[in-house]
Amino acid sequence: MYYDKVEGLDRKELEALQAERLRKVIERASCSPYYKEQFKAAGVDSSSIKTVDDIRRLPFTTKDDLRANYPYGLLAKPLDEFVRLHASSGTTGTPTAVFYTQSDLDKWADLMARSMHTCGVRKTDVLQNMSGYGLFTGGLGIHYGSERLGCLTVPAGAGNTSRQIKLIKDFNVSVMHIIPSFALYFAQKVQDEGYDPKDMPWRIALIGAEPHTEDTRKRVEELLCIKAYNSYGLSEMNGPGVAFECTEQNGMHVWEDSYVAEIIDPNTGEHVKEGEIGELVMTTLTREGMPIIRYRTRDLTRFIPGDCPCGRTHRRIDRITGRADDMLIIKGVNIYPMQIEKILMAMPEVGQNYLIELFCEGYMDQIRVKVEVKDEFFVEDMRALQGLQKRIASKLRDEILVTPRVELVMHNSIPKSEGKAKRVVDLRESED
Ligand code: ADP
Ligand code: ZN
Repeated sequence: MYYDKVEGLDRKELEALQAERLRKVIERASCSPYYKEQFKAAGVDSSSIKTVDDIRRLPFTTKDDLRANYPYGLLAKPLDEFVRLHASSGTTGTPTAVFYTQSDLDKWADLMARSMHTCGVRKTDVLQNMSGYGLFTGGLGIHYGSERLGCLTVPAGAGNTSRQIKLIKDFNVSVMHIIPSFALYFAQKVQDEGYDPKDMPWRIALIGAEPHTEDTRKRVEELLCIKAYNSYGLSEMNGPGVAFECTEQNGMHVWEDSYVAEIIDPNTGEHVKEGEIGELVMTTLTREGMPIIRYRTRDLTRFIPGDCPCGRTHRRIDRITGRADDMLIIKGVNIYPMQIEKILMAMPEVGQNYLIELFCEGYMDQIRVKVEVKDEFFVEDMRALQGLQKRIASKLRDEILVTPRVELVMHNSIPKSEGKAKRVVDLRESED
């Protein structure tokens, strides 16, 4: 039933395994210049860990720490033992690099294969990987995982929708790995080009790599007649394959035999109460070349309380509501782009893309939301359009507590990037 029996391991045994692996990873990490100094300063070593809960005694690692020690400061092995590097996409500034030994790559491929198996992908499937290859981990990460599972793997890469569709039809592709914002765009294209999704061979979409709402998932599912599963990962923790949805589609199991996940209050650094939202902190348990301890992901989520009906014992995290860095402050109010997406994607008139613009009017910061409207609602009746515009603005106001300007645009008129969507454009610096 499981890809690996560790998925159903009794919690006590799982936590004992974590504690044992944590002690070992501390020893390995101490071989890197960075952690050697950090652990010394904090007065901790592997003997500080009796249970996995003692992880709280270890210092945090931040993205700034990785940048300050770029590129080799966290390597725990000589450089000639490494065979690959990846870099984060640099969504929030200077990228960071992560290095893998052959054994790290093997373990990552196993986790990725396990993740895909969890939501029903099997070796008989043909998997098309529609994310960019290269330094981004979503390319080779998914690729090697898919091969490890035994799927025939189509390394299509990003973009070029018509070609993607041709490959899918030619090779009977049953699983697609696709970034959610691109999935919406892709679904629209499929429709525009006159295909009936029911005639297409696909059955599963693995969507992840960027925040998206439950309604976005539902849209992808409905538009493509497919099942879509959430995939979470970050390059500092290898890449994809860190947490993955099972067929219950209710939260992502974090692979706790390979990672320790904690959720903290970002201000105090203390653990939040079970079920509360906070910042996800992750520790690699099995990585050899470049272990990372208590990494502050800046991603906001919560543990979903209770057991999963699928029987896996690894805890589930909820969908990421946003990154701490995504937070916008407009007129003194904190706003996350996902709050806006939540409202928009639940409205049937709204098309597949939107863009948030921040601008200055006088001395006031303002927010404008450009919203693509589906063709059938983009009518010539001005009053109907104005009514829609008002309704969107008022729904958004109820959610974000600030009234945004709403601009309605035709479908496909907001440029679509091939990689992760850029949802917010800040025009304030370029204006007086
Ligand atoms: P970057 O930090 O430059 O975007 P990565 O490519 O490593 O680099 O991206 C990892 C980040 O992508 C995560 O920290 C998270 O913010 C986001 N992410 C990945 N998967 C998901 C997901 N399923 N849902 C929401 N956000 C995700
Ligand atoms: Zn489950």
